[in-house]
Amino acid sequence: MTQQLDMPSPVAIKLPTPVLSAPLPQAERARLVERIKYLFKKQDAVLVAHYYVDEDLQRLAEETGGCVADSLEMARFGNTHAARTLVVAGVRFMGETAKILNPEKRVLMPTLQAECSLDLGCPADQFIPFCDAHPERQVVVYSNTSAEVKARADWVVTSSIAVKLVEHLKARGEKILWAPDKHLGDYIQRKTGADMLLWNASCVVHDEFKAQALLALKRQHPDAAVIAHPESPQAVLELADFIGSTSQLIQAAKNMPQQKFIVATDRGIFYKMKQAAPQKIFMAAPTAGEGASCESCAHCPWMAMNALDNLAQTLETGANEIHVEESVRVQALRATQRMLDFARTIQQPNRGD
Ligand code: SF4
Repeated sequence: MTQQLDMPSPVAIKLPTPVLSAPLPQAERARLVERIKYLFKKQDAVLVAHYYVDEDLQRLAEETGGCVADSLEMARFGNTHAARTLVVAGVRFMGETAKILNPEKRVLMPTLQAECSLDLGCPADQFIPFCDAHPERQVVVYSNTSAEVKARADWVVTSSIAVKLVEHLKARGEKILWAPDKHLGDYIQRKTGADMLLWNASCVVHDEFKAQALLALKRQHPDAAVIAHPESPQAVLELADFIGSTSQLIQAAKNMPQQKFIVATDRGIFYKMKQAAPQKIFMAAPTAGEGASCESCAHCPWMAMNALDNLAQTLETGANEIHVEESVRVQALRATQRMLDFARTIQQPNRGD
């Protein structure tokens, strides 16, 4: 059973000021792209970008032999690519994960201000005592966490493998302490029936998707399929025709027979969905709109901080390098490696958030 009574109070999250600057003129974007391409070659660097960042960066990653992927695939790509510098366009835990798996490489990010509400909502100094108070539970944390939190965990998981891992632990008779996303934890608990104690954090983007408005949109578009990320609230997931991680949602958009999709995840993913299924129509699932706590509805305010100009600036100056203290890195690697090994035993390509 899920132990709601023990759920800790949520940590207050301060959202960043929304990025409201006008888009750069086309000529300036072209100049920056050329400059960045030159600096990539000169510095033996490759760009690894998340599905949620700006289209300019996703296109640049594709054009320069980098990758556009979920968080774990980003780290794996960096691990197998020969480049000595990895430039990670995403949020900070992604840069840290790249460093955890690739300690010998220089890892840069366009900005170090790009956080994640799940990571911020699970600070190590509160999470570690919470784990210590429940020593009978296996600590399973989502990849959207800091290196310190991963270092305290028994397992790190991504959204696509979480259900299978929890089923595996349940079959071993284990009880679970899950962090940080309460919606994802609740979804996994309902799927598996495992005994899970949930941390109390959520994604500011997915938390804003609203079931009533989604129902109304479904009525307007009865031929559309609803596809949703499991970080969305339960009421939204109950209306979904398909639930999956970012990579699984892109595959679903391609493979499902419907021509129209209502998508409950960050709208940055539309770039890859349109590539995978150019003839299909994609609509963002409705959010709370005006007055919502997510200030850039259906788009992560931290992902939006990644841009061509701060990427160029980072390469010019070498600023925004990611460092992870070695003892923390080694412990965090242990929990991450267990997930990779488990994924191999069930022969599932492990796809992230
Ligand atoms: S979309 Fe949500 S889960 Fe992803 S980085 Fe932003 S706040 Fe974190």
